[in-house]
This record gives sequence, C-alpha cells and structure tokens, in this order.
Amino acid sequence: MSNDPRPNPPHAQTPAEPSSAHADPATADLLRQTAETAASWLAGVGERPVRESATRAQLLAGFGAPLADQPTAADEVVAQLVAAAEPGLIGMPGPRYFGFVIGGSLPAALAADWLTATWDQNAGIYAAGPAASVVEEVVGAWLLDLFGLPEDTGFGFTTGCQMAHFTCLAAARHEVLRRAGHNVEEDGLADAPRITVIVSAEVHATLPTALQYLGIGRGRLVKVETDRQGRIELQSLAECLEKAEGPLIVALQAGNVNTGAFDPIADAIPMIRRRRPNAWIHVDGAFGLWAAASPRLRHLVAGLGLADSWATDGHKALNVPYDSGIAFVRNRDAHTAALSPQAAAYIAYGDVERDEFRWVPEYSRRARGFAAWAALRQLGRNGVAEMMDRQVALAQRLAAGVRAAWGVARAQVLNDVVFNQVLLRFPTASGSDADGDERTRAVVRAVQADGTAWMSGSQWHGLTVMRASVSNWSTTEADIDRTVEAIVRAARSVA
Ligand SMILES: *Cc1c(COP(=O)(O)O)cnc(C)c1O
Repeated sequence: MSNDPRPNPPHAQTPAEPSSAHADPATADLLRQTAETAASWLAGVGERPVRESATRAQLLAGFGAPLADQPTAADEVVAQLVAAAEPGLIGMPGPRYFGFVIGGSLPAALAADWLTATWDQNAGIYAAGPAASVVEEVVGAWLLDLFGLPEDTGFGFTTGCQMAHFTCLAAARHEVLRRAGHNVEEDGLADAPRITVIVSAEVHATLPTALQYLGIGRGRLVKVETDRQGRIELQSLAECLEKAEGPLIVALQAGNVNTGAFDPIADAIPMIRRRRPNAWIHVDGAFGLWAAASPRLRHLVAGLGLADSWATDGHKALNVPYDSGIAFVRNRDAHTAALSPQAAAYIAYGDVERDEFRWVPEYSRRARGFAAWAALRQLGRNGVAEMMDRQVALAQRLAAGVRAAWGVARAQVLNDVVFNQVLLRFPTASGSDADGDERTRAVVRAVQADGTAWMSGSQWHGLTVMRASVSNWSTTEADIDRTVEAIVRAARSVA
C-alpha cells in the first residue's frame, strides 16, 4: 500500500501472487458446467411448453427464505438457482413466443453477453473500460448508417426504449426551453414556460411515463386522432399544431405497438416544420425503426431522418439479450447538455475518448455495446435486412393461416399486417362485442395453457384482441404453422 494518490500507470506490474482466487480450478469447472446447463436449456426451449409451469407460491418456496446465515458453495448455489428458477421460466428465447414485442437472443449476442458479465467493465467512463466505450462508438455509427440517420447524430445505450425516450425527451426539453430563453438544467421547471407535447392517441405508455419523469407532466398531452390502422390522421395533427401554445414537442410512431402501423412520417414532419419551426420532433421506433434497415421495408419510414430524435431497442427486433435500448439525438449539444453533469456540459467532439455517462441517464452501467456489436456482426447488413423481412413474412403467414381457418375457428385478423404485428379477434355468432371480448379472452387463455405458443391479450379500439408479435430470429414457417394449429384448436374449444 502506498500513499501516493496518483493512479497506477496503465501497464504497471503489481507484484502479484502467483495465482488469485479467480484461478481456482473450481471456478473454471463451475463456468463450464453452467455453460452446459445453459446450452441444454436453450436446446430444449423449442419443445418445452412456452408458458411457465409453477405458481408464484411454488416459486417463492423454491427460492427459499429467510437468508441463510452460513455461506453456500458456488456450485451448489448455481444448482439451487437453476432448480428454483426453471419452473418459472417462459420460453421467451424460443421460436413460438409471440407475446408483447420480445425478441430472443442471437447466439453471438448471447455469448457476448456472458463475456460482458465476465469482463465486468464499468461502461460509465472511458478510463473505466476503454473497450466498452469504443465498442459503443462503433455500434452507434453502424446503427446510424443502418437507419439512414445523419452521421453526426449523438447516441446512447440505455436499458430499453423507456429510458431511450427519457434521454431523447430530456434533450428535447433542454432545446425547446433554451429557444424560449430558459435553462432547465440550471433553473429547473418552476419558472419555465409550459411545454406542449403532441402525441398519437395510440402512443406507447412509456412515452407519457418519460414525460412524467421529466417533470413535463403526462397529463398535458395533446392527442392526435388515429385511423383504422392506428396511424395519426394528418388533418387532426394540423388542428393540434394550430392550437398548441409555447414550446412544443411532437412525437411520431414508427410501429404501433398493436398493429405495427407506421405514422405518415414523410408528410407529418414537413407539416410540423412548416407550421412550428421551433418544435422538436421525436420518433418512437422501439421495433419499427428496424424497417429502415431493410430495402424492402424502408418505404414505411420514409422521411425518418428529418426528425430530431429517435428511440429504439436492440432487445426486440434485433434479438440482443436484455437489456438493450438506444437513444439517438441529432443535436449533440442538446443531448449532452441535458444528460451531463455540469462540469461536462461542454465537450469537444471528434477524435476523443467517449465517456458514456454524457449520453445516458446512468453513470456506472453495464457494457451494453458488446452484445449489440456481436448481433450486428453475426448478421451483417444483409442479415439484419433479411431478419426484418422474415419477421414480416412470418407475421403475414400467421395472419393468412388464421384467415383461412375462418370456417372452423371463427377468427378474424383486424389489422393490415405491414410489419411484425398481428391482431386477432374471436367473435361469436351473436355478433355482440361483449360476447366477442369474452370469447377472445377465453381463446387467449386457452392458447397460453396449451403451451405450444404464447400470445398476449390486448385492448384495441375498444375491443379485446389477441396480439401476436413475430420478433424472434429462430422462428420458422413450421413454427408459424404449429401456432396457427394451436390457435385454431383453442378457438374450437371456446364456442
Ligand atoms: C416496447 C416498446 C416501448 C418500450 O420499450 P422498453 O424497451 O420495454 O422500455 C416503447 N414503444 C414501443 C412502440 C414499444 O413497442
């Protein structure tokens, strides 16, 4: 121990013991055995029931309580964890999990994520993990290129789209208030002009939540009416813009969480710019932004690059393990001013070391770039495009299969399947909405209990629906056909 406060030079050789606790062969054995356990669970995930098999009470009993006084050997701990957790696991990485919009994990991304935990780098500052910083720099640039966004756009890797919204909208708050002569980071919101936020009537719940965190208030949203597919109506947007007062943020959607539909971005952005040149335009592209990575699907997000900020996920359509969200902000000054501590608010750009904390709400954090890098590297540009095309083609196959079974299943597809979302409804012969709601809920329960596949229920335009999201890299046409059979079976069992 020395009293010298200076850090060690980077490659200083401290006179180390010949070995360390980490070099214990038992540790290597444990990791190998854990890898075996993981690989065999994954190999079986396609054939086990997708749903969990234990109740909450059984899981509680399995994990045990209270905390033991005495230590437990590491290999015993892992064995206990596996035994306690397995009955409560859902086959989420598997090919027939269609709940919410939840992708699986590409093999290279999963392996990279194991290494991320092994390396245990702190991805807050460059000095605490140079490789973790540089990999994010590289992946950020790859993504800007894939999505066709301006190349000098700022970016940050967050836990998910929720915090990507928070990041983008913090930058938006900074900038619209700066233009109104107010420094929100320094002076807070108490004396600030009120910000108006225009969103789709079918906005994803995480966007108002981000506004709640930011003190803008989720109760002050102005909602744009949507059409039958869940896209904003331009006429309604024009009226909202007309009425809006003061600093303004407008949020558009690339991928409605129910229907997968895309707002008419190419028409909406020029309209907003023309009428309200000082407005900040944000795009929720949690899964839909990935349409931009496919030449066949790109038309869905035409005009995307004209917005100010974009939020997306790696853990949905790209199939990176949790957690992986990404925020993009075109105005790097607004981005860093909103997220950085005071001392770091003004930084030079260019060939400099990137301290990640300036771009995200966290300080110490997981090195999220490694897994995202591995996913993109495994697929390549063409592989990303093909995976998105496949997700859409499989969603369309599911819709076609269900439509074809009308005679036996009495099931409807409610949306135009333009992306990876399918909305199903199971009406009754009576034609009553209430009866249809009840039957749809019963079919959702029956499909989940059957275990072949997993779909969630949702509410859409006042109706109860079953929602299928096709977002797993490993799903095949055969999986879709088995799923259609399971849906038909469930529908027949519920008159
Ligand atoms: C999933 C989703 C979100 C939230 O993303 P998280 O990664 O769960 O935080 C936001 N918007 C849309 C459209 C989504 O589908």
